[in-house]
Amino acid sequence: MTDETQQPDQRLCPLCGRNNHCALANGETGASCWCMDVTLKATALSALPDGERGVRCICPNCGLDKEVTQS
Ligand SMILES: [Zn+2]
Repeated sequence: MTDETQQPDQRLCPLCGRNNHCALANGETGASCWCMDVTLKATALSALPDGERGVRCICPNCGLDKEVTQS
């Protein structure tokens, strides 16, 4: 059926290699993915290699602003 050796692990973040918790990669519907409710960091998206953009999801750690500055 699917040859998993031919493709990168869709469940791992291409930036840090940790589990990206993507619902799509786990076989669930995209509507239930954490990334649907948030705005991903532009710096994280631009750090993705062209080959990975739109292919693998990044993890919450990399995609979210950890240091939220409040004014
Ligand atoms: Zn990550």
